[in-house]
Amino acid sequence: MPAAVITGASSGIGAATARVMAESGFEVFLGARRLQRLEALAEEIDGRAIALDVTDPSSVAAFAAEIPDCAVLVNNAGGALGLDSLREADEDEWRWMYEANVLGSMRVAKALLPRLIGSGNGHLVTVTSIAAFETYRGGAGYSAAKHAQRAMLRTLRLELLGEPVRITEVAPGMVETEFSLVRFGGDEEAASRVYEGMEPLGAEDVAECIRWAISQPPHVNVDEIVIRPRDQATATEVHRSRP
Ligand code: NAP
Repeated sequence: MPAAVITGASSGIGAATARVMAESGFEVFLGARRLQRLEALAEEIDGRAIALDVTDPSSVAAFAAEIPDCAVLVNNAGGALGLDSLREADEDEWRWMYEANVLGSMRVAKALLPRLIGSGNGHLVTVTSIAAFETYRGGAGYSAAKHAQRAMLRTLRLELLGEPVRITEVAPGMVETEFSLVRFGGDEEAASRVYEGMEPLGAEDVAECIRWAISQPPHVNVDEIVIRPRDQATATEVHRSRP
């Protein structure tokens, strides 16, 4: 059974991806900080839960040491903090966004690349965002981090040319997960306002894109998938049925 590693599998897109990967016949290794949640999901899908903090190099090393083989890595852990203008930028929030999205995905990719190559048919999927190529007011820190992730993937695509590893970037628009709750520091009202009057994507919609990219024959590299709700044309243009 080929092994798939999913980071940020304790909620949202990562958890939905873990479910579809298990359904598709992979042995699934789940990583995130909230171990209890991971263990519940691991039990449901017969996977393996391993504590992981991608902002901590020693945690990434310990996580990687628990994974014998890896055919698919879904680098999904990350998120946004705050919506301050650049003039009000909070350095700690920016630092976390860089650590979790940029350095975190580099660390996990670096640790598992030898196993992806060794599998003979490896696949690195990274969940970035439309913020990887668009900007919006208050989103500078998150967009800068997601732009950086995209640059990293494009570089890796060049560096791995000739190796048996596919590289796919999945860039979603608005997905209703815990993303906005985290961004607004647990403020449920602020989080629910983000999706008011429009129909966002669900985590399962993104997971299905990941499943599709992985299910292509080994010589087919789906470079990038951009997926948005029908109600969203850009990061800022959103149709809402209620004002
Ligand atoms: P979510 O429900 O908040 O999930 C984020 C996941 O990342 C959680 O499992 C969280 O687990 C994990 N995580 C955060 N920090 C971590 C760390 N230091 N180490 C390990 N795991 C960490 O949000 P989501 O929407 O599913 O987000 C998944 C990815 O999609 C993120 O990269 C996000 O930027 C991207 N994205 C989301 C949207 C959206 O609208 N929702 C749109 C575009 C892109 P723990 O807290 O348990 O560690």
